[in-house]
Amino acid sequence: NYQVKLNMHRDDELGELASSIQSLSNNLEKVQRERSEFLASISHELRTPLTYLRGYADVAQRKISEEEREKYLKIIHEESKRLTTLVENLFDLAQADRHQLTIQKECVNIGSLSANILQKFELVARERGIMIEFQSADDVFVNVDPLRFGQVIMNVVDNAIKYSPNQSKIIFSIKQVNTKVIISVQDFGQGIPDDQITNVFERFYRVDLSRARETGGTGLGLAITKEIVDLHHATINISSTLGIGTTVTIELESEIHEKSSNR
Ligand code: ADP
Repeated sequence: NYQVKLNMHRDDELGELASSIQSLSNNLEKVQRERSEFLASISHELRTPLTYLRGYADVAQRKISEEEREKYLKIIHEESKRLTTLVENLFDLAQADRHQLTIQKECVNIGSLSANILQKFELVARERGIMIEFQSADDVFVNVDPLRFGQVIMNVVDNAIKYSPNQSKIIFSIKQVNTKVIISVQDFGQGIPDDQITNVFERFYRVDLSRARETGGTGLGLAITKEIVDLHHATINISSTLGIGTTVTIELESEIHEKSSNR
């Protein structure tokens, strides 16, 4: 038997070769299993909004009150938005897998970039009485792809808002510590159970499935965020206490910049 032989001749060259082949084949099996799981998740994620779309489009065509129709059209709108995000996210991940997710770094004032992004959340935050506190030193520069790094900030802030209760606070801060720039987003929301913190970077992983659906999440945001952060040779860490809140910290090299420059 192949397996037995493999153990018996562990020290032989042939044994080593057999062992390499064995581990290669195990890896291949793992990759295939992951791929099939990934495809199953995609199908599931696509089917759900499509079912809603068809169902609500059906009822919206019936004889119903204007008020009801408006309600159903709103759901149709939300679900198509979710589908768009899902497809965009999948496209990004497929690119990352083929090493085709590329970044074009330039010297960026991270305070200005962040302020621009936070502005986009102003309305959603205000509607829910969430206050976003912005703390940043002046003129902190980093070498990043402004679009892709903007996407990272957007995902993290979006999560902070999504998983926070109404009338709460989010603290967004940028600090420069020696040659490092530390960006942190702290919320006072539901938090993440200790044993699941590392899982949230996995594709399609969601802590609370029903709640995550309500919030319009796809479970891909942090997976993409991690890919982009890695491409920048930066780090991302999450610390969280259930029922107290979550802090996401991104750390990267600062671009030492002369004060006189106006970029
Ligand atoms: P989603 O689109 O579901 O938000 P993400 O990949 O961005 O997907 O996040 C994965 C999961 O991690 C979320 O479904 C949520 O359960 C959890 N999570 C992420 N950020 C936070 C946060 N700030 N507070 C609590 N839970 C969070």
